Amino acid sequence: MDFELSVEQKMIVETASDIARDFGPEYWREKDKKHEFPEDFWKALVEAGFTGIVIPEEYGGSGMGMFEMILAMETLTSEGCGLAGTWFLCLTSIFGGVSITKHGNEQQKEKYLPKIAKGMEFCLALTEPDAGTNTLNTKTMAVKEGGEYVINGEKIFISGADRAGGMLLVARTTPKEKAPKRTLGLSLFLVDLPNPAVEVIPIEKHGINYSKTCQVFINDLRVPEENLLGEKDKGWYHVVDTLNPERMSFSAAAAGIGLLAIKKAVEYAKERRVFEVPIGSHQAIQFPLAEAKAKIEAARLLNYKAAWLYDKEQPCAAEANMAKVAAVEAGTWAVYHAMQTFGGYGYAVEYDVERWWREVNLIRLAPVTHQMALAFIGQHVLGLPKSY
Ligand SMILES: Cc1cc2nc3c(=O)[nH]c(=O)nc-3n(C[C@H](O)[C@H](O)[C@H](O)COP(=O)(O)OP(=O)(O)OC[C@H]3O[C@@H](n4cnc5c(N)ncnc54)[C@H](O)[C@@H]3O)c2cc1C
Repeated sequence: MDFELSVEQKMIVETASDIARDFGPEYWREKDKKHEFPEDFWKALVEAGFTGIVIPEEYGGSGMGMFEMILAMETLTSEGCGLAGTWFLCLTSIFGGVSITKHGNEQQKEKYLPKIAKGMEFCLALTEPDAGTNTLNTKTMAVKEGGEYVINGEKIFISGADRAGGMLLVARTTPKEKAPKRTLGLSLFLVDLPNPAVEVIPIEKHGINYSKTCQVFINDLRVPEENLLGEKDKGWYHVVDTLNPERMSFSAAAAGIGLLAIKKAVEYAKERRVFEVPIGSHQAIQFPLAEAKAKIEAARLLNYKAAWLYDKEQPCAAEANMAKVAAVEAGTWAVYHAMQTFGGYGYAVEYDVERWWREVNLIRLAPVTHQMALAFIGQHVLGLPKSY
């Protein structure tokens, strides 16, 4: 793996830094407080071409890969945007751009990719209230009627569904009991939104209040058969190609938030004097921050490896899961100790650390829970018996 960045990669980092400076912590404090979508930030990402990073040039993108996407996300996040620096790009570029680039036919690529490169928002409707982590228990059903699929079901925690123009929907096309194998029977659909058959209800949540996460009720939704993405019944295998980059994106976010928190904590620890000397001279303050930095840099390297493997079309699930575990451990450790460094001020909204704490903790729960990522490593990397 060669870590010398190309001219284009350096440009991505520089552009991301510039954008992050324009939309720093104060901006996100306000957006989070007011529960307001960051229209001008989104516009800046689109104008910079970030929504097209992973989209092939012939469809209006820059034809780069996950490695470049990770560079953009990590920089936006660590230079001031927090989770927002990753979140919106993940919704659009990974759920829409990566999925369609990887599994779309020519017609689907021509229809969606140029629009995504220009900022068409997307969402992923995978999680269901009853199935939870167990995606193979998906109940949303798509039944073929003539040239259409009629879809009914319910989804939960669907981020960005309130605004998205497109939805990657996971539904069952063969009932579980009739599927020849438990991993067969799910399919992916591209759904144009808004649609009267898709009811979207935002859920009140703990953080990331500048973006809505929603309950989605699907009632007799009619989708033309040409909107089936990839092969019928093989959706489980296809969606993994989206879920691994999603994991890499959230690892970039965890590492980025950690770096942001460390930077702010270090600045504060140099200034703040309580017993005559700066608090940063005490090992109790300094060492956890040093440890956080070391942990984050290790997690970043693992995430780069995952992205590099993905771009080379090599198996990357082990690295994607290990990077996610390492990055969220490092990120939460960093923000926790940043909060300790700030003392009582760490709890005050004005210092931003409490917001990053709310944001980084999500990455333990989503896109894959910490436990399920560990279960993957236990089973597929260490070769231990399946634990569930
Ligand atoms: C803010 C937010 C945004 C989200 N955005 C999206 C989105 O855009 N699209 C989407 O499809 N989903 C989204 N999700 C859903 C998210 O991916 C799920 O919440 C997550 O996968 C966990 O599912 P669950 O909440 O049903 O937990 P459950 O599956 O009910 O699990 C509960 C707990 O039990 C543990 N557990 C369950 N089974 C096992 C086992 N076998 N071994 C060990 N531990 C186990 C889990 O690790 C977890 O700690 C989002 C969630 C949140 C909170």
